[in-house]
Amino acid sequence: MTTTATHKPAENHIFEADVARLLHMMVHSVYSDKDVFLRELISNAADACEKLRFEAIATPTLLANDPDSRITLSLDEEKRQLVVEDNGIGMSHDDLIEALGTIARSGTRAFMERIEASKAGESAQLIGQFGVGFYSCFMVADRVDVVCRRAGTDEAWLWSSDGKGSYSVSAVDLAAAPQRGTRITLHLMEDAKTYTTRWSVERIVKEQSGHVPVPITIVEKPN
Ligand code: ADP
Ligand code: MG
Repeated sequence: MTTTATHKPAENHIFEADVARLLHMMVHSVYSDKDVFLRELISNAADACEKLRFEAIATPTLLANDPDSRITLSLDEEKRQLVVEDNGIGMSHDDLIEALGTIARSGTRAFMERIEASKAGESAQLIGQFGVGFYSCFMVADRVDVVCRRAGTDEAWLWSSDGKGSYSVSAVDLAAAPQRGTRITLHLMEDAKTYTTRWSVERIVKEQSGHVPVPITIVEKPN
């Protein structure tokens, strides 16, 4: 037998208490501007491409046969899915748990106090400022799947959560993962299906991610 990775059972993890609080708050507050989730995911994707470029200075083989950074947004109206994929540094099993299960920063409490006291229009800005960006995707999605492969490794992982207190991590076949980097699939809520239409996504990208130094391509899944 070669790989048994996919046959291992998924590990279930409980979110750190602060993450759970934050998620609960994100989902239950009525933000006027949910569009910010896309800016946050694109900014993480661009950061991941930057990290790879930096590591590749010392280890050029990390780039393999794919030297140019890119971010792809795939829209699937029928399945009501938005996929944000990058060919950046990716995440290992431990990176995933650290990055998407905890809040490494100490600013979380301060963030929550600020946001509770803030006016409607300020919350979006605060989300970015305090670095809680990733979790904002649970404002528009009731399940989020993150498939990733860290550059230079031969393991791929699926992180999956409904944002309600726990998440799972399981190994996936390399064939089902990007060659390197991260693919985030948002299973959009009924009232968030506008994020599968090109005009809407294009508008948000232009408005909020115009400065991103990595090319962004929008692809529509043919229905
Ligand atoms: P921040 O970007 O301020 O660190 P986020 O909540 O946006 O906070 O992201 C948390 C962490 O998750 C990031 O610091 C990074 O380690 C990891 N992460 C998120 N998205 C990606 C991605 N596309 N590629 C690699 N790592 C990612
Ligand atoms: Mg971020």
